[in-house]
Amino acid sequence: MPAGGPRSDDAPPVTAYVAIGANLGDAQVAVQQAMQALGQLPLSRVARRSSLYRTAPLVSNLTGAETGPDYINAVVALETALTAPELLQQLQALEQAAGRERPYPDAPRTLDLDLLLYGQARIDSPRLTVPHPRMGQRAFVLVPLAEIAPALVSAAQLDAVADQAVTRLEPGAP
Ligand code: ADP
Ligand code: MG
Repeated sequence: MPAGGPRSDDAPPVTAYVAIGANLGDAQVAVQQAMQALGQLPLSRVARRSSLYRTAPLVSNLTGAETGPDYINAVVALETALTAPELLQQLQALEQAAGRERPYPDAPRTLDLDLLLYGQARIDSPRLTVPHPRMGQRAFVLVPLAEIAPALVSAAQLDAVADQAVTRLEPGAP
């Protein structure tokens, strides 16, 4: 299959991994609602979902500033027959629907949805890079990804981000 290219209607679904992050308002609710919304995308179903994790914001590379309150993060595995560009478009529409504004780079956001992996595809277009170029530097991506897809994350990758504190939230805890 061409990476990100057209898919025929009867193509088998691809497993895509989507990272969810939120740090404004009730971030846990925003992440849970995003998980539900992902399951309602066309030609898609949620195959696995990680626990929710709490992460302190990284200092922005762009502005040098702390970027607001703690984040809530999670990763879902989505079985989808959407192409990668179609999926990105859907993710951006969900971000918009969640009221995301971008007053400055790396500003706090209501909802951030990143396409981490799309099957085995490697995509390098102006709008879309897959695998996500910064996923290897982010414990808040690698830890939940390892929870639902342990074969996709090596111990060395986890070691490399072990200095970043990521706390798993107990299901149902406040
Ligand atoms: P980040 O998630 O890195 O903090 P943004 O969410 O603001 O930043 O994304 C900025 C741009 O990154 C988007 O306009 C999108 O076109 C581009 N982009 C490139 N590759 C990806 C990807 N794999 N997932 C999501 N967005 C991507
Ligand atoms: Mg993003």
